[in-house]
Amino acid sequence: MQVRDKLYINGQWAAPRGSKSIDVIKASTEEVMGRVPEGTPDDVAAAVAAARAAFDAWAATPAAERAAFLQKIHEGLKARMEEIGKLIAGEVGMPVKLATLIQAGSPAATFGMYAKMLGGFAFEERVGNSLVLREPAGVVAAITPWNYPLHQIAAKVAPALAAGCTVVLKPSEVAPLNAFVLAEIIHAAGLPAGVFNLVTGYGPVVGEAMAAHPEVDMISFTGSTRAGKRVSELAAATVKRVALELGGKSAAVVLDDADLAAAVKGSINACFLNSGQTCSAHTRLLVPESKYDEAAKIAVEVAKGFSVGDPFGGAAKLGPLVSAAQRERVRGYIAKGVDSGAELLCGGADAPEGLPKGYYVKPTIFGRVKPDAAIAQEEIFGPVLSIITYKDEDEAVKIANNSPYGLGGGVWSKDEAHAQKVARRMRTGQVDINGGPFNLQAPFGGFKQSGNGRELGRFGLEEFLEYKSLQLKPEPKA
Ligand code: NAD
Repeated sequence: MQVRDKLYINGQWAAPRGSKSIDVIKASTEEVMGRVPEGTPDDVAAAVAAARAAFDAWAATPAAERAAFLQKIHEGLKARMEEIGKLIAGEVGMPVKLATLIQAGSPAATFGMYAKMLGGFAFEERVGNSLVLREPAGVVAAITPWNYPLHQIAAKVAPALAAGCTVVLKPSEVAPLNAFVLAEIIHAAGLPAGVFNLVTGYGPVVGEAMAAHPEVDMISFTGSTRAGKRVSELAAATVKRVALELGGKSAAVVLDDADLAAAVKGSINACFLNSGQTCSAHTRLLVPESKYDEAAKIAVEVAKGFSVGDPFGGAAKLGPLVSAAQRERVRGYIAKGVDSGAELLCGGADAPEGLPKGYYVKPTIFGRVKPDAAIAQEEIFGPVLSIITYKDEDEAVKIANNSPYGLGGGVWSKDEAHAQKVARRMRTGQVDINGGPFNLQAPFGGFKQSGNGRELGRFGLEEFLEYKSLQLKPEPKA
């Protein structure tokens, strides 16, 4: 049991203004594994004031000094990777080996990447008679979700600090414990007081207070499209810069000339990772009509390999979902899929056997799903794949783009040029060609209702910078 009874404000562990707390539930046992303060608007006000007071000096710190701080945080995260992996396996439910690799490894890598990047980043350039400066956007409020909790925090905090911004972070109330480990690491790195602040609490209270606060210059939000819209509305009153990373319903398009077995296997992996609780999960698998029977057969075989069980047991490939609410939501969608007339190829809405505790759901695959069915349109956020058939390539592209979202996707073909041609027609922020792996250096973010702006790599750093032009008077001609 981890009890955190303080917030991190102005370089210190500070008692919260309110007296309530939030229980953190272990996904695999349904037991309380920790407790964090339920922050209030007064806590937000104190954190924003600290971030504002620290801003000028931090913005003026040479890039090399900021890089040295980021490097220390990188090293601190690396040293505590195992502990963080275990913690997030408890909070979120991802099998601990994978959680250590992804949930703990990626944040460490992200801080390391930005430490390095600062060495070579051009913060100014000459354009005609102007000197164009890139300056930090100001005080950043970062609001993050629970599914890759520390990765999503790092994707905001690392580039914001690198840019010279100061930060107030509100992690998800569902998986907040890992953020306290980061705050400890930041404290140990000796970051100046007020540069990083942590306030835990609920979205409609703490998150909305951050989005509305006049001293916050920028909101960087990752979460549901619903909450992202609300944050944008509140931020509009003071014309804040808003960066949004929202939901997705990504399609993997298997072309006629693809290696079908590799494509189906790769797409199921990209759908079921983290029990389907991945914003860029490939939840729609588009196959040529003529290949449907074979694809369905392969899919069922591949799904058998996804054993469900205790994330700490060592054998399971899929852990539980994060919460009871999430489990009910996913089971509801599976029932809806059955009602819609889609073929239930494997899985189903009933509970998996032998797991009386924990928020487990059976990995489920539907075949012959209609492109407009709810399970093909709405984000389920569980291990549920919809196989959809298409007649020709134009129709495949049309179905892939038939979504309010545009976050991820995939194309599979033996001919890479062919795959690229189709990928270019997809209205989405990322397309994996033949299972090409995730790349921290590449921009991540969405078209359409998947959001605004891009995170990670150089693009993620630019997100936290403002342009300023100094118009220089040309030297008089001699
Ligand atoms: P959520 O929107 O409920 O919560 C996300 C964060 O926003 C939490 O910190 C929450 O407290 C806060 N929040 C909620 N309501 C708010 C409000 N009214 N004002 C301000 N803040 C508010 O989402 P979730 O359930 O934590 O996460 C799942 C969602 O996140 C999914 O839709 C998923 O697709 C999306 N997601 C997107 C990305 C991406 O990069 N595009 C990454 C991960 C998750």
